[in-house]
Amino acid sequence: MAEKTVDHSCTLDKIISLCKRRGFVYQASEIYGGQAGAWDYGPLGVEFKRNIQNEWWHYMTQLHDDVVGLDSAIFQHHTTWKASGHADHFSDPMIDCLECQARHRADKMIEDFVAANPDKNPGKPVDTMTHEEMENFIKTNINCPVCGSKEKKYTSVREFNLMFKTYQGPIADESHLIYLRPETCQGIFTDFKSIVQSNRMKIPFGVAQVGKSFRNEIIFKNFIFRTAEFEQMEMEYFCKPGTEDETFERWRKDRWAFYLKYGIPENQLKWHHHDKLAHYAKDAYDITYNFPIGFEEIEGIHSRTDFDLSQHQEYSKKDMAYIDQEDGNKKYIPYVVETSAGLNRNFLMFLCEAYEEQNVAEAGQPEDYRTVLHLHPKLAPITVAVLPLMKKDGLAEKAKEIQNILKEDFVTDYDQSGTVGKRYRRQDEVGTPFCVTVDYDTLDSASANFNTVTVRNRDTMAQERVKLDELTGYIFNQIKNYNK
Ligand code: ATP
Repeated sequence: MAEKTVDHSCTLDKIISLCKRRGFVYQASEIYGGQAGAWDYGPLGVEFKRNIQNEWWHYMTQLHDDVVGLDSAIFQHHTTWKASGHADHFSDPMIDCLECQARHRADKMIEDFVAANPDKNPGKPVDTMTHEEMENFIKTNINCPVCGSKEKKYTSVREFNLMFKTYQGPIADESHLIYLRPETCQGIFTDFKSIVQSNRMKIPFGVAQVGKSFRNEIIFKNFIFRTAEFEQMEMEYFCKPGTEDETFERWRKDRWAFYLKYGIPENQLKWHHHDKLAHYAKDAYDITYNFPIGFEEIEGIHSRTDFDLSQHQEYSKKDMAYIDQEDGNKKYIPYVVETSAGLNRNFLMFLCEAYEEQNVAEAGQPEDYRTVLHLHPKLAPITVAVLPLMKKDGLAEKAKEIQNILKEDFVTDYDQSGTVGKRYRRQDEVGTPFCVTVDYDTLDSASANFNTVTVRNRDTMAQERVKLDELTGYIFNQIKNYNK
């Protein structure tokens, strides 16, 4: 009988299972059967997500003197969305199967079909197809992906607005209508003048923001990839008209470099140029990552012209122009380049990239696989785990004492159950870069290793003896020089 081969590659199912098993992500309202498009981030997930957000913030604001931060409200005046064009245009094309009533996003349905059947393509990029062209293509070629019906009986393609609506106050009428924001950036535009005045900002400069956005997507798909509620990390960079092309190129390079810095190999990333531009855009590219489901968008970089500020000027009747003192007090509406990354998609990308099932058996020995997340140490949910060799003989007390010192600077974990080998494996699976083991030598004043611990490296599995009074500095150094 042929031997069963085990698949050791990274799949979305394995990531979902690890996330649930180790407390990264749970399905929201699971006890009630789950809430579509909603996920909860567990004890390790919340640390990991916050680390990604913090590194983005550090990179965008601290490392760029010309970028400041903002935290604007989720609820903005409803005219904001009229001015931005979202109330009228923020929609996706949908089509329904008449056999099973399943609803599909028409453009994605065609993209998925073409990815599986490259010889059958519509002959033009999907984002340039009209509704009629999409409908004809689907009705001629695509069986319903849900019920599999070969009849190809569908409704026509129509637009579906993605904004969630509700009412503020006790009266549910049009004058109390309010939207959950579908992107964070409009708050940056409406606050533009306040930021310039309060912080004496000089063009060119950027404003960064991280926060929740909400989209009533036609379908929620692929775990946390496409959800109703998600977080965006956005930056709007205001520049002088005529300098937008060089600014756009600068930020394309800069955002690409961010992903390399945190461990994404260049061959796992790809640019996608938008063939059809949004009504406000002059140019647009997505950075896509090679997920187990294929290359998909993680971040959009958009040259937005002066559209947003001009629209808010028109609708609010407030002057949004900038007076350029360095250019003879010239008055103009700045042009904008936007970088818009999804925090949850970054989360999924970093997990997929870090995931490895690695055979760690010595040569000639039977295979022995460990699951390890090679996360950048600044992103890992736990930085250091402290493990006493045994629970007894004062080792546990010493380990706790060491953990209490490390806690001041790092997220730590303490684990005393099972063999040290098993404890290493548990930490590997959640990406803990350093394990500190406290053994009898640590306590033995007669030993040459008195007051030292073993530090085990997650990636190389190499162990090093480190003096206790140098431990914090040692870990800082290892993090700083990671991958250098
Ligand atoms: P898509 O084509 O995948 O629907 P988009 O082009 O509409 O995405 P943008 O409006 O450019 O996305 O938003 C910027 C970023 O926000 C995206 O690159 C993505 O990382 C994230 N994002 C957008 N929609 C969602 C969603 N429904 N769930 C999770 N993240 C999202």
